[in-house]
Amino acid sequence: MDVRYPLASSPIRVGGVELRNRITRTAHGTGYTRGGLVTERLIAYHEARARGGVGSVFLETCGVHETSPGPLHAFRDEVVSGLAELAERLHRHDTKVFAQLWHGGTQALRRDGSPAWSASALPDPIYGRVAQAMTKAMIDEVVAGFADGARRCLEAGLDGVEVHGAHTYLVSSFLSPMTNLRDDEYGGPLENRVRFAQEVLRAIRDACGSGLVVGIRLVATEGVAGGIEPPEAARTRELLEDEGLVDFVDVSMGGYHNFGKLIGAMHEPLGYELPTSVQVTRAARVPTVVTGRIATLAQAEEILASGAADLVSMVRALLADPELVAKSLAGREAEVRPCIACNEACVGRRFATGAATRETGCTVNPDAGREHRLPALERAVPPRFVLVAGAGPAGLEAARTAALRGHRVALHEAQDAPGGLVRRARAAPHRHDLGVICDWLWDELERHGVERRLGSRVDRELVRREAPDAVVVATGSLPRRDGIQRLRPALRVEGLDLPSVVTPVEVLAGDAPAPRRAVVFDDLGNYQAAGAAELLLERGADVVYATSFAELTPDLFRSFQRDALAARLHAHPGFRLVPRASVERVTEESVTLRSLDSGVAEEVEADLLVLMTGFEPQTSLADELRADGVEVHVAGDAVAPLLLPHAIESGRAAGALV
Ligand code: SF4
Repeated sequence: MDVRYPLASSPIRVGGVELRNRITRTAHGTGYTRGGLVTERLIAYHEARARGGVGSVFLETCGVHETSPGPLHAFRDEVVSGLAELAERLHRHDTKVFAQLWHGGTQALRRDGSPAWSASALPDPIYGRVAQAMTKAMIDEVVAGFADGARRCLEAGLDGVEVHGAHTYLVSSFLSPMTNLRDDEYGGPLENRVRFAQEVLRAIRDACGSGLVVGIRLVATEGVAGGIEPPEAARTRELLEDEGLVDFVDVSMGGYHNFGKLIGAMHEPLGYELPTSVQVTRAARVPTVVTGRIATLAQAEEILASGAADLVSMVRALLADPELVAKSLAGREAEVRPCIACNEACVGRRFATGAATRETGCTVNPDAGREHRLPALERAVPPRFVLVAGAGPAGLEAARTAALRGHRVALHEAQDAPGGLVRRARAAPHRHDLGVICDWLWDELERHGVERRLGSRVDRELVRREAPDAVVVATGSLPRRDGIQRLRPALRVEGLDLPSVVTPVEVLAGDAPAPRRAVVFDDLGNYQAAGAAELLLERGADVVYATSFAELTPDLFRSFQRDALAARLHAHPGFRLVPRASVERVTEESVTLRSLDSGVAEEVEADLLVLMTGFEPQTSLADELRADGVEVHVAGDAVAPLLLPHAIESGRAAGALV
């Protein structure tokens, strides 16, 4: 019998351990640990992916020293029992477990306010706080910490450890010519800069012998002038291999100086890290791991066939669908829920400020991170007839969930295509993949026998006629046109009824007049206005981008999209950013802005104002149906116009309730 994906599914020996296949998950933060220890939630999260066929997993960063505790405390004996339980549970599925031993360097802000430890006394690229250059005694202490941490992993029955030598953290701060300014035996030429990594790896080997597979994570490039580049990274690998210090090398890219490359969002092509990673992996003598927007098993198979690496890491793809490997191997690829590389609910939550949660989730998979308390979706007894109004992401997910539970489901959409506002948002440059989840859900509905009706607006009459047992109202939201601004809510903007005032949705739908010069006003700070601005620039218009925020789209920082967007917009000569502004008046020829800082007004020549001041939930259908005594469940923007994770999650909840 032909084996699907023969390379991806083939076993490989790494050090003294055999992995059942070539698909792995490299480390990522979850927010599921507590007090530095393993929780049932963390185990259940990884176990779901082990059950789904992944051959090995790397746990999130394990701090090796109290100056950088991290989510898992490898510097404390108490960590061992939880790690042992986790390893035992994953081993039941023949999935091997690696820990990532780590010191955060400048990123490890100290709770007591004392300085972070790093190779040199340089500021952290994100926080700006200057670190303390480590003394020899400090170096020896941390090296011993790595060895102790590895010993605890061995004691817990883990299969291996990886030293985190990438992404600006401590080991990387020594390796990089950009952040290592030392003039002692740890600084200067590469042979000196690699010394700290060598001492760490030697100490781990000495502590654990052949009982533990040992590897290192490196970056092929830091993606910033003066930083690590592939030839030096390849030479680092060689030096470590020469001494037999590593059983594998895990290669990625980026760091905190070039944040966007760390976890490439949908603007990056699939496999965007490979061109640089392969320059490090190509001549390796030990097995290598690559990563970076690897979305399908077919793509992984191609990478393996090309010889770029021996193992392929799929982090976000397996967050979106834990069963990706098993489904693909069984020929059920179409059923794999796709990661859309939005970075919104996974890493976007980890970096959110002022958010209720810093815990990893997934925009397209509301169950991600909840595996510990998930009952199987309950079968509906008896099945009912559920009518869903609206084929945006919330309605699509509600219809799918209800169908999975055994209900008879009919989905009606007033427009001639599914997707709701996502359909418009994906029309912006570099945003197409946002809608891939709607495409998938639409196809899922067909697979699950849902009746799909386009061009069918649900009203009281239709509901009376169809007589469903329950209605899910997912009628979405529309952009507000009242001009109410978050920092000047009492301000009334003059001229809003002019035909030259439009919303980004109209621009992206092709329903707005083509401007010569537009003002785009952004009061939300994510992609809603920026997508329209980029489209207008690409079509040759000049754009003055006014925003109430102090910088361009601050909410895109956490999803690793801000810097790339800023670079693209500023590359257009006709682009100008006006931060900290309110909009006051519109005429057919101009828009008057007022600085929120100086109070000075500026009249900008413009023949179009694209106004983005939020969205208004569309609730009238729900109100009418309730008045008629219909069982109504509201989902998505019709509840509150938030971002895509909320829409899909509330659709899931509605579908589970009906
Ligand atoms: Fe992928 Fe977005 Fe889910 Fe992250 S939140 S795993 S990027 S779909």
